[in-house]
Amino acid sequence: MAGKRLLTVGEVLVEIVATTKGDGFRAAQPLTGPYPSGAPAIFVDQAARIGAAAAIISRVGDDDFGRVNLDRLAADGVDVSGIEIARDGAPTGSAFVRYREDGSRAFVFNIAHSACGTLALTPAAEAVIARSDHIHVMGTALSAPGLSQLVLTAIARIKARGGTLSFDPNLRPEILNAPGLRAALEAVLEMTDVFLPSGEEIFLFTRARDEAGAVAELLARGIPEIVLKRGDRGASHFDARGRTDAAPVTVEEIDPTGAGDCFGGAFVGLWLDGTPVGEALRLANAAGAHAVTKLGPMEGAATRTELETFLKERKG
Ligand code: ATP
Ligand code: MG
Repeated sequence: MAGKRLLTVGEVLVEIVATTKGDGFRAAQPLTGPYPSGAPAIFVDQAARIGAAAAIISRVGDDDFGRVNLDRLAADGVDVSGIEIARDGAPTGSAFVRYREDGSRAFVFNIAHSACGTLALTPAAEAVIARSDHIHVMGTALSAPGLSQLVLTAIARIKARGGTLSFDPNLRPEILNAPGLRAALEAVLEMTDVFLPSGEEIFLFTRARDEAGAVAELLARGIPEIVLKRGDRGASHFDARGRTDAAPVTVEEIDPTGAGDCFGGAFVGLWLDGTPVGEALRLANAAGAHAVTKLGPMEGAATRTELETFLKERKG
């Protein structure tokens, strides 16, 4: 691929998944994992697998959960030089997840007080920022006070050099009231080149309550491109020239976690390389669908060749 380099900043976690459905973790039960995880980590892994030069700034503990992530990301071609290994005893972040019968998820998180809950601008992080042409922002990173300052610093530096920004709000409306979050999100949106909401997130920053109205409002506000993720209904891209749709790939959904991040990693990785929108959307839609067929949030990250094979198999 061309030489443009992308960067993301944020949480690196392991995910441990209950193998039975039910409401939470109040009794002993079978679990599987640890799987490498964290929305920015999944995003960057998929971006690297599709062929982009991709880096992440984060922090893990000096423990096996950290090594699970470092080993996977490095093996998949991610530049992990900006991942600091905490020497202060902080553990790698973790998320325990169990699916309920209705498809919703029960979580136990250890993120805010884990190694990635506080990120410092280390010399290694400075170096990664200095060589990046693009930054991908996850709204979740802005909701953590220990991370948002670093994200905003990285954005300012990359944008000042003429770099680009993609933004996945990745937030449910309920947590929007966290202090300072709304202002930080608005500031990032102002600088966004590609906005990647999923479902109702399209309305996070609009007065309009209908999709077409919201898209028009965002474009009028100066956001050049919007990519709307629609879960099992596929995805759409909007810009000043119009609309492009990707019909869903029919799959058996094993584990929906990570679909949006794989979709985003594929789309942004290809977009940065100058891939035409229709082609980037087609492959990102396949990446999201492929992700849900695997247990574990990062397990479905796939190469371009793997995605083409996956699509061919599904078309019969
Ligand atoms: P996440 O839980 O990772 O935050 P998200 O809500 O951001 O997910 P989704 O819209 O669920 O993102 O999924 C992203 C993309 O993945 C969809 O736009 C679609 O292209 C693909 N996808 C997701 N689920 C399915 C599915 N069940 N069948 C086919 N494609 C899917
Ligand atoms: Mg999402």
